[in-house]
Amino acid sequence: MIKVRNLVKQFGNTRVLDGIDLEIQKGEIIVVIGPSGTGKSTLLRCLNFLEQPDAGQLQIGDIDVDMNTATRQQILAVRRHTAFVFQNYALFANKTALENITERLIVVDRWPEEKARELAHRILERVGLSDKADAWPASLSGGQQQRVGIGRAMAAQAEVILFDEPTSSLDPEWVGEVLSVMKALAEERQTMLVVTHEMRFAHDVADRVIFMDGGSIVEQGPPSQLFQEPRDPRTRNFLRKVL
Ligand code: ADP
Ligand code: MG
Repeated sequence: MIKVRNLVKQFGNTRVLDGIDLEIQKGEIIVVIGPSGTGKSTLLRCLNFLEQPDAGQLQIGDIDVDMNTATRQQILAVRRHTAFVFQNYALFANKTALENITERLIVVDRWPEEKARELAHRILERVGLSDKADAWPASLSGGQQQRVGIGRAMAAQAEVILFDEPTSSLDPEWVGEVLSVMKALAEERQTMLVVTHEMRFAHDVADRVIFMDGGSIVEQGPPSQLFQEPRDPRTRNFLRKVL
């Protein structure tokens, strides 16, 4: 349902993504792992056009677009099919938890306010924050803020949610609650592409784990295979350090 062909991204003379091919099935949970500086964030950001790719072909929903020459309209269309969860939450500080979730529905999708608020309340319940609707982000713990961030992504009702190290900024005490919200989403078969260092999560939740190194996909497979019988020495070396 999502197909990426030959995605290339350079920063100056450095080729950060070296021709990535990727297919994601509907309902698939994919975890991306790999050393830092390898292009994992850039991959996710290119899929949402937070970075402008230098080459690539993207198919998502009914869109089929040359990523290098995508028009503003095509970019907006791709963004309607994708939602992003950031490492640092990136909430609107001057909006309540509820408003963070309704914002896109009202402003971008032109929903009536009442309908948007209704959905947001249901989502807050699903992420365990029904009592925090009117709270400001600054008054919430990191774990609660990230659950609002996930709620906001859920509200987009996107084909795929892209998570870029969603628990890496959190104090250890909040990591579990964020991972359980993600696990619940995975159980509902929300299509997800997750960059994370949480190997337990990858092992338990992913349908497929992708190991990236140096701007390329080195190998991929079901977690049991990739973790227990990695084929490439780079994968083995990485796993030795993190497991
Ligand atoms: P990862 O998420 O795997 O740690 P990134 O995608 O963040 O890796 O970065 C890949 C490489 O691209 C790194 O060498 C990083 O320094 C570089 N890079 C990322 N963003 C930019 C940018 N906006 N400008 C220049 N270089 C960048
Ligand atoms: Mg990163």
